[in-house]
Amino acid sequence: MTPDFFATTPVTQLKGVGAAQAEKLARLGIHNLQDILFHLPFRYQDRTRLVPIGSTREGSEGLIQGRVLMADIVVRKRRSLICRIEDGTGQLNLRFFHFSASQKTQFQTGAIVRCYGEIRLTGFGKEMAHPEYRVLSGADEPIEAQLTAVYPATEGIQQPTLRKLSDQVLKLLGKAQSVAELLPVEAMHAAQWPTLTEALHYVHRPPAEAPVQALLDGSHKAQQRLALEELTAHHLSLLKLRKRVKEQCAQVIPAQSTLEQSLLASLAFTPTAAQQRVHQELCRDLQQSHPMLRLVQGDVGSGKTLVAARAAAMTIDAGYQVVMMAPTEILAEQHYHAFVEWFEPLGLTVAWLSGKLKGKKRNEQLALIQSGTAQMVVGTHALFQDEVDYRDLALVIIDEQHRFGVHQRMALKQKGQSEGMIPHQLIMTATPIPRTLAMSAYADLDTSVIDELPPGRTPVKTVVLESQRRLDVVDRVRHACLQGRQVYWVCTLIEESEVLQCQAAEDTAEQLKKFLPEIEIELVHGRLKPAQKADIMDRFKREEIQVLVATTVIEVGVNVPNASVMIIENPERLGLAQLHQLRGRVGRGTTESFCLLLYQKPLSKMGRERLEVMRETNDGFVIAEKDLHLRGPGEVLGTRQTGEMSFRIADLLRDETLLEESKQMAALLLERDPARSERLIQRWLGNAAQYGEV
Ligand code: ADP
Ligand code: MG
Repeated sequence: MTPDFFATTPVTQLKGVGAAQAEKLARLGIHNLQDILFHLPFRYQDRTRLVPIGSTREGSEGLIQGRVLMADIVVRKRRSLICRIEDGTGQLNLRFFHFSASQKTQFQTGAIVRCYGEIRLTGFGKEMAHPEYRVLSGADEPIEAQLTAVYPATEGIQQPTLRKLSDQVLKLLGKAQSVAELLPVEAMHAAQWPTLTEALHYVHRPPAEAPVQALLDGSHKAQQRLALEELTAHHLSLLKLRKRVKEQCAQVIPAQSTLEQSLLASLAFTPTAAQQRVHQELCRDLQQSHPMLRLVQGDVGSGKTLVAARAAAMTIDAGYQVVMMAPTEILAEQHYHAFVEWFEPLGLTVAWLSGKLKGKKRNEQLALIQSGTAQMVVGTHALFQDEVDYRDLALVIIDEQHRFGVHQRMALKQKGQSEGMIPHQLIMTATPIPRTLAMSAYADLDTSVIDELPPGRTPVKTVVLESQRRLDVVDRVRHACLQGRQVYWVCTLIEESEVLQCQAAEDTAEQLKKFLPEIEIELVHGRLKPAQKADIMDRFKREEIQVLVATTVIEVGVNVPNASVMIIENPERLGLAQLHQLRGRVGRGTTESFCLLLYQKPLSKMGRERLEVMRETNDGFVIAEKDLHLRGPGEVLGTRQTGEMSFRIADLLRDETLLEESKQMAALLLERDPARSERLIQRWLGNAAQYGEV
């Protein structure tokens, strides 16, 4: 008995698995027997009891047994074989669109058929299309003693195949072979978790009396045992990633910097205590000869840019280049302007790069970057294309990181690599990451929090209004403008289409101009040329424009302290984090600010709840927690599409209570037995774990 029999035995050792089958299984990530054990059911069917036809309902699934009344081939639209059965409580049609001649002869009148499938109500009564079925030799053949597992399947690999394979492997499990317990055994025992073998048997083949609801929820102890193991594996893979980065070399940046001092001296304000604290944390990191990996969280307006600029100044002073990347053009532009304003008076050159920059201008910027003439580089993800060459890059700053995945972070790091040196990484986000997620999704980062706003800010008052009150709102806008305030009017649309969104904004701008002829109204959206956009934003800043109608392009970064009223149309269509970002554009000055959420009826229960959250709190952390609970981690992290942070059995929300425990298990394992933690990662993440290799 080898300790890792299951992990080292290929699937081709199983009955019925040849090369072709093995190839299909590989598509499900199944290569060896362990992979089959950890290919877990995502739901269950109850075939442990017969359901009388009379008590079945539309859409329900069930095991049905009856006598064949007749079987015939009918042709309407499509040829199909219909077999009618009855069980004394009712009749049911089994319908087959694909069938063989022998199938028809199988259904002899009077034969007993047992089938499983979903009930449909049709004009001809109750029906099951393509049920799994068997013609019995007698009515008293035994029924399944266990719930039936349903596995993630793929083209060419159907449920019966997966069941047969897992049957074979489960038979070996616990008899001839045992599966390696990789979690710390004493700790698991102390917490009274079932053994891995018990848990696997239970989850693949739950007994007939198993609590079905708990199993379907994933809250059964056996499932939780596996979820704990999976979370531990994920945590370990992130820790490993982090450890690898930390083992690499980075430039040492001294904390004493005259350039940084000059920057500070040139400001009209002094840093807040929170900014100062985070700055100290960055200084400590940058003085190490290993790359910094730090996430700075700070609510909108908390002054993250300055913290980044100070770190940049220190790095430049030490003789290196710094790059700052933002996820959108408009935000990147904003940063560019901030850095030009702060750095050029200090004699530095700031380069700019975005996807929209083309031709000669682009080449100029590329040359500035490559030659090192530009010490500071700002832009969008265009910064990380192959053609961009850096010169002694030592610090990479990424703003609004929740939109970038781990992969992108890695690609970025690689990009800056030169002569074995890895740049330091500073990641900033205004979307506070709920503690639960931070623990699991960002275990590879150190975190700092700027938990204080600069003085003199007043909290934004939020009002939720139905869109029929639009004219009242227009009146309020007039009133506010006459008092010298400035207003954002934000238009949103369900469609992701920029064109449609722009059009909605255009219509709104037209309408407002009609209602408010005495007021200067302008429109800004993503389809304007950068120069046009910049011009409009400048005029808004100079108070030549009172009302700025915009699409969600102003979501991040825009900073006009005199703007103190924001109207958001159809706020129900946006995520809470996005609403919070938008709202953060006001409340930047000393006057009291308002945010009016103008929703469209009817509002779903969830929609109402979300707007209520916005009304009740200005605290980004509270909002992020709510968002997580309302929308789920994939949406909040923005990783739903990339498939990152997707689990086989764990669920970050449901299993929140397991996170702390999994973290402890991971730490314990890493300390006592790194080789074992490697096996655990391989077991649960398989090849996916290799994103660390990027
Ligand atoms: P965010 O954290 O949302 O990125 P910014 O860095 O854009 O915030 O800062 C918002 C505004 O606050 C900017 O105008 C910035 O210059 C200003 N600011 C930053 N720190 C301070 C401070 N300590 N005191 C006063 N104003 C500050
Ligand atoms: Mg910012």
